[in-house]
Amino acid sequence: MHTLLPTAIVGSLPKPPWLAEPETLWSPWKLQGDALVEGKQDALRIAVQEQRQRGIHIVSDGEQTRQHFVTTFIEHLSGVDFEQRETVRIRNRYDASVPTVVGAVSREKSVFVDDAKFLRQQTDQPIKWALPGPMTMIDTLYDRHYKSREKLAWEFATILNQEARELEAAGVDIIQFDEPAFNVFFDDVQDWGIAALERAAEGLRAETVVHICYGYGIQANTDWKKTLGSEWRQYEKSFPLLQRSTIDIISLESHHSHVPIDLIELIRGKKVMLGAIDVASDTIETPDEVADTLRKALEFVDADKLIPSTNCGMAPLPRAVAFEKLSALTAGADIVRDELSAAYSL
Ligand SMILES: [Zn+2]
Repeated sequence: MHTLLPTAIVGSLPKPPWLAEPETLWSPWKLQGDALVEGKQDALRIAVQEQRQRGIHIVSDGEQTRQHFVTTFIEHLSGVDFEQRETVRIRNRYDASVPTVVGAVSREKSVFVDDAKFLRQQTDQPIKWALPGPMTMIDTLYDRHYKSREKLAWEFATILNQEARELEAAGVDIIQFDEPAFNVFFDDVQDWGIAALERAAEGLRAETVVHICYGYGIQANTDWKKTLGSEWRQYEKSFPLLQRSTIDIISLESHHSHVPIDLIELIRGKKVMLGAIDVASDTIETPDEVADTLRKALEFVDADKLIPSTNCGMAPLPRAVAFEKLSALTAGADIVRDELSAAYSL
């Protein structure tokens, strides 16, 4: 990637209304069988085209083939019973009915590789694919088999590594692990979370990202954020550990969040995917607002390591809003890129 300030989205884009109910998280599919397969591919094509037309450099699938960023992956594994459900508290925040781990977990065949190959065919731009992180996966399950968060995370890390290697072979340039749980379980992050994440990323030539956020703009998250006070210092726990880790890129929330921007200094040397677009608001950022967020970050990250991005996924937003936010991200990055080029050529 030679472009300065290459832009990327974190993950999801809204799905077309003919594929799934709009403005709903984890909405059930409206199609079935072959029509669903074709519908998902058409949606993926549109997601790619919108990103390209609106100037996004690192292209994602917009999670058009997935219902849920964690569950869809787990559905493809053996050892997890989706009929046996227990209510657990997700990230200490909200209750959800989740499947049960009933035996050794394993991946019989690849989960997203066909979708990734399809994405590869749609563009010559660098492509990024997101997988759930090991800690976030175990937080979405009831474990009757391993009875150890660490053991189950390690098993998932091994499975994720198999999947990641196949994604890389399919032409994926950047592999992202979503670990919102890193903002909640600080002791686990230190004790085994980083090690499990590195295990998932082991031996990859593709660049690796860890995305740590404060979640989608849903009520449970909005309520949680209200309890976090005026300064959100959660990253202060994970960043020093990630700075010493093998992970290449750290993806974090910034715009409209209460994250002190100077925390980015803690990951100096790593690439930073900086959230300059608020995904919890329908208001479209102005290019100047985006540029302002990027400029502030540039005090703590070298320009050749900054990747302007969104705070999180945009699945719950109205489609037109999400697409306009892509344009705002591009326009804001353009402003700062021009400023940097002018400064360099002096
Ligand atoms: Zn996120």
